[in-house]
Amino acid sequence: MNKKLHDPGTTKEILKKYGFSLTKGLGQNFLIDGSVIENTCDAAGITKDDCIIEIGPGIGTLTQFLCERANKVVSIEIDRDLIEIHKETLPYENLKIIYDDFMKMDLEKIISEEFGDSNVKVVANIPYYITTPIVMKILEDRVKVESITVMIQKEVAERFQSPPGSKEYGAISAVIQYYANPEIKFIVPKTVFIPQPKVDSAVIVMKIYEEPPVDVKDEKLFFNLIKGAFGQRRKTIINSVSGTIRDIDKNKLKEVLENLGYNPSIRGEKLGIEDFAKISNSLAEQ
Ligand code: SAM
Repeated sequence: MNKKLHDPGTTKEILKKYGFSLTKGLGQNFLIDGSVIENTCDAAGITKDDCIIEIGPGIGTLTQFLCERANKVVSIEIDRDLIEIHKETLPYENLKIIYDDFMKMDLEKIISEEFGDSNVKVVANIPYYITTPIVMKILEDRVKVESITVMIQKEVAERFQSPPGSKEYGAISAVIQYYANPEIKFIVPKTVFIPQPKVDSAVIVMKIYEEPPVDVKDEKLFFNLIKGAFGQRRKTIINSVSGTIRDIDKNKLKEVLENLGYNPSIRGEKLGIEDFAKISNSLAEQ
């Protein structure tokens, strides 16, 4: 490996040499701990057969390890001020950097053009201001990605992983758990970043299902039901859904819940994806 970028002295030296000023709005908190990076790569289970998509290489601290461990890496970085730095820090032949906004990327095109039929994994320390949109883009685009291993804000990781009935469980937990099996691997203290963020982080692995774990007849209705069920958290599912989603009739929902044996005054936070699938499938049949 070239100069270890995660060494705090090296990171500071590079930032100074290139007069790079960190942009808070882009979530630029750079990692300065080699073992956290090693553990992230281990959690992702990267092998020489894998192709990796990285979002936000920063100065290239994690990217170095990805290039050493994987077959090929495509990194997407929005900040063009990092181009000159990358010329020095990332001299890897198995790396392609695209300077653009990840949210605008055609992932299917990148995967087919760059990776062909290889295994594809997403591994990244992603910018926290768009954590959920980034993860949802990968899942909703339904691209051929095996798993997503990301370092994200601890509280967000807990929400992704939480089971029904727990304090952190919400619409995003149910939606993520429909597409993938999320598992927090370890907590990352805020002290291992320059500059230090205000919150701790976690590395979470989301193994993407080839087929969703529940049978859903109408996905739009299923997602609307989830959205509605958590729209007004303290209310029963019937009142919350009817207060948020126009397409779902209050009386019809009450009838469906009763027919399926649910207490109509149940709240969304008690229901898992199996329940939302059953209820939305029954609504779809009406
Ligand atoms: N991977 C590096 C590390 O671990 O030290 C940097 C991680 S830093 C938390 C997030 C990186 O994402 C920054 O380099 C930032 O410029 C980049 N970024 C922010 N928004 C982005 C976007 N919409 N698309 C691509 N990259 C983005």
